[in-house]
Amino acid sequence: MRKRGILIVVSGFSGAGKGTLMKELLSKYEETYALSVSATTRSPREGEREGREYFFKTKDEFEKMIAKEELIEYARYVENYYGTPKAYVEKMLDSGKDVILEIEIQGALKVKKKFPDTLLLFVTPPSIAELKKRLVGRGTETMEMIESRMKRAAQEAEGMELYDYLIVNDDLKACVEEMHAIIQGEHLRSSRN
Ligand code: 5GP
Repeated sequence: MRKRGILIVVSGFSGAGKGTLMKELLSKYEETYALSVSATTRSPREGEREGREYFFKTKDEFEKMIAKEELIEYARYVENYYGTPKAYVEKMLDSGKDVILEIEIQGALKVKKKFPDTLLLFVTPPSIAELKKRLVGRGTETMEMIESRMKRAAQEAEGMELYDYLIVNDDLKACVEEMHAIIQGEHLRSSRN
């Protein structure tokens, strides 16, 4: 029987480059990993597509998903709901893929509590100045939203120590390999237990 995959949570400051990192990792190792697509009540950014970046829901629809226990976890982040649909994650894990959840810290801790074998990775840009530069450069948020996200980043920094590994995103390709190596290492470790 094929071995069940492992669950990996990737968190990091908004603007840390997690999205690009995940895209690279998944395109290079598409047989190995599956990325969970979250549900959210925030509006789509330009270029985002339903079912690819997120499943975009109204508040009402989201609350129904909560009531029906269709989510592994959910959290509020800067005025919106975000949550991980359960069915897809279970299906991918059963098929032997490692499933990556790109979620913020409150959700990460809930997942770790439910599934103690989850690997928690935190991605950070090389500096706070770089973080702000990336958020502004992305051009998808107002200055007010950027300030809220910077504030939230400062709060999240306090939770960083709860993660298993900290990954500094200064070089995309090197970062992809580092992440892959960490996950493969985790497989070896879990097979020994
Ligand atoms: P963004 O609006 O920039 O796409 O995401 C904002 C934050 O929500 C990011 O930190 C992202 O990782 C987090 N997030 C995305 N999906 C989920 C989810 O399903 N659950 C939780 N808890 N956080 C999520």
